[in-house]
This record gives sequence, structure tokens and C-alpha cells, in this order.
Amino acid sequence: MASKVLVVGSGVIGLRTALELLRRGAAVRLVSPAVPSSTCSHGAGGLWMPFHCDDGRTNRWSYETLEELSSGCEDPEGRGRYVESLPAVSFKAGGDSAVGLPDWASGEWSDAASSSLDFRRLTVDELYREAKSGRFRLPPRAAIVDAGYTHAWLFRTRIVDAPLALSAMLDEVRSHGGRAEVDVGTGRSYGTPGEMADDARRHGCDAVANCTGLGARKVCGDGELVGARGALIHFDRRSVAWTTDDGEGPMTDASVTIEGGAFGSPTHPCYMIPRGDMLVVGGTYLEGDDEPDVRPDERRGLLENARRMGIDVGRSEPVGEWVGLRPYRPTCRLEVDEGLSGEGLRFVHSYGYGGSGWTVFVGAARDAASLLLDR
Ligand SMILES: Cc1cc2nc3c(=O)[nH]c(=O)nc-3n(C[C@H](O)[C@H](O)[C@H](O)COP(=O)(O)OP(=O)(O)OC[C@H]3O[C@@H](n4cnc5c(N)ncnc54)[C@H](O)[C@@H]3O)c2cc1C
Repeated sequence: MASKVLVVGSGVIGLRTALELLRRGAAVRLVSPAVPSSTCSHGAGGLWMPFHCDDGRTNRWSYETLEELSSGCEDPEGRGRYVESLPAVSFKAGGDSAVGLPDWASGEWSDAASSSLDFRRLTVDELYREAKSGRFRLPPRAAIVDAGYTHAWLFRTRIVDAPLALSAMLDEVRSHGGRAEVDVGTGRSYGTPGEMADDARRHGCDAVANCTGLGARKVCGDGELVGARGALIHFDRRSVAWTTDDGEGPMTDASVTIEGGAFGSPTHPCYMIPRGDMLVVGGTYLEGDDEPDVRPDERRGLLENARRMGIDVGRSEPVGEWVGLRPYRPTCRLEVDEGLSGEGLRFVHSYGYGGSGWTVFVGAARDAASLLLDR
């Protein structure tokens, strides 16, 4: 008999897990107190780049996600509606010997994914030459050089328009008709994993996927899980004014990240992500800070970051701002809970993907589905 799985959580992890289960022939009951548009996943940058997701499985999950995002992303009627392939740049200070490569750039997991990433380490001069010939937009060069940046990583990333992607995933879940029960936006939270297990049995499920993100801190009493706060401001991508346009025709937006040197730090990274119809400018990475609003001094810092990125802040006003808490854990929790499993029920946790939920979600969902169904 095919399984029926209670999937708890309507963020990127819960939705993609539900989809993976449905694609493998299982039935699903998807529940969440929140609709997808109220989740952390909805406000995220949607950039494919491993960031604060420290797990031995992160690279494999990331490459599996990159492969899925890449397939059909050039089709404006298909995945291209919500996935864009764009240049991504990360500036580095400190001279040649200080600039290493990230382990995820090695291509260890898949030649196809690694070649589509086209990862390169360049000097700043080389990078600006590339940008000129490829006509992609970078921060003002003089400021980058004056601030001491000497090198950069350049690669081709995929960026997900998170709101559209969540809505497409929910539509696909619903399209499975009788095999998919959807009960999201109920306002009802589980207090313990035991409550999830009881509810699963009541609804004829033989498995549970706990995809509650940061909610698992309370539900599971998981003290290793912390919220890492990120604050962002948004600009309208279609109407924003740039200080860097060269007047020689249209330019492609690039994602730019600076986590060190004069402009950024690990707790206050300076970044810009072109996501759908907006430009997302960040940011912060502050573990344990749960202030829900953007603070006045942060807003000033974010505007300064926008200016550093080349946005003409004298002529362009932000159109929104957002604060979210990344569910960070020293290692992700994707495992069978042997204590809660038994008596005909399999219980799997899938949470703690830090700043990388949109980078790892496909690989993580595949692993969760295997743990839930392969018995
Ligand atoms: C500022 C910021 C920028 C980011 N940018 C990026 C990026 O560019 N790229 C990237 O890969 N990642 C990014 N992230 C990280 C990404 O957003 C997260 O890793 C991802 O959203 C986690 O998804 P999730 O489904 O686990 O959790 P969530 O989206 O938080 O969903 C959790 C779900 O569980 C439900 N839930 C919680 N508690 C309970 C309970 N007790 N009972 C029942 N249901 C419950 C919630 O209602 C919700 O539906 C960013 C995050 C932030 C904050």
C-alpha cells in the first residue's frame, strides 16, 4: 500500500517535500498554520549560493537543486517564470594568497552542475573587463578599488522569485487532486512532535515530515536551532536609477555579495539580489536577534549598501523592507526520529537549513522522501 504522509510546514522545504512525495506516488496531507506568503521562505533572497548551512550533505543537496533550477529556466512559459540565470559576484579583499575557493565550487558532485556554474576567481581588473564585454552591472569600480578589494568570485547562479515559486509549488501539490489534502493557513500550530504523530494517525497517515523551520525550536525543544536575523530593503527593479549605467544600452543585473573588507562583515554582509521584479538589498546575519522590524540605524546602513551597489539612492526610493529569521543549526536536522517512529508510523525531521533553504531544497526534499518511503 502506498504511504500517506503528513507534511507539516508550507515553506520551501515543506512544499517541495510534499511535491517529491506526490511525484513518487504517495498521498500527502499538507498542513501549516501559515499560508506560504507568511513564511520565511517567501521573503528570502532566493539566491542559489550555499550560505550558513553547515552540513556534510549541503554540497550534494545544492547541486541537485541547481540542476533542477537550471532545467527549463530559459523557458518563459515554464520554470523561467520564476527562475532566472544571472551572473553572481562576490568581492574579496586581502590580496592573492588570501582568496581561496569555496568548497562548493569544486564540482565534486556533478560535472554538469559544475560546468553550468562556470565558477571563476578573477582579479578586480579581469572582472570589470568581463562585465564590460558581458554587459552586466557591477558596483562603481573606483569605490571597490579604493576600499581595497583585489579579487572576486564570478559564477552563473540561479535566482528564484520566491513568492512565485512557492505559489507554483502549491498549485502543483493541489493538481494531484485526491492524493493531496491541503490545509494551510489554519492558524493552528502543533505544540509537540507527539501531537503531529497523533494527528497523522487520525488522518490515516503512516508517516510525518516535520518541516517547521525555526518553529522546530519550540516544537522539538531543539536548543541547537537559532534564528539568524536578516534585514532587507527592496527597490523596484524596473524603475530603479543607477549611477553605473554607461549609456551604451541595456545591461544585465548581477547578484553581488561582500562579506568582508571595508563594505561588509560576517554579521553585516553587503549584498544585492535581483529577484523577480525587485532588487533585494541586505543585510544582516545576527544569530539570536529577534527584533521583528528594521531598526532606524539598519535602514541607514541598508541605504548605504544600496548606494555601494550602484543604486542612485537620491533618485530611487525603497519600495519595501523585510526582516526574517534564518533557521540556523550547526548541522541540518534531516533524519528519522527513531523515538517517535514505530507502531506503523515513520517520523522524519527536515529543518535547520540556515541561509540556504532555496539553495538546498530539492536535494533535501529528495532525501526526506527517501527516508519517509523507502522502508
Ligand atoms: C533575510 C533572509 C534572506 C535569505 N536569502 C536566502 C537566499 O538568497 N537563498 C537561500 O537559499 N536562502 C535564503 N534564506 C534562507 C531561507 O529563507 C530559509 O532557509 C528557508 O526559508 C527555510 O525554509 P523552511 O521551509 O525550512 O522554513 P519556513 O519558510 O520558515 O517555513 C516553516 C513552516 O513551518 C510552519 N510551522 C512553524 N512552526 C509550526 C508548528 N509549531 N506547527 C505547525 N507548523 C509550523 C510555518 O507556519 C511555516 O509554514 C534567507 C533568509 C533570510 C531571513
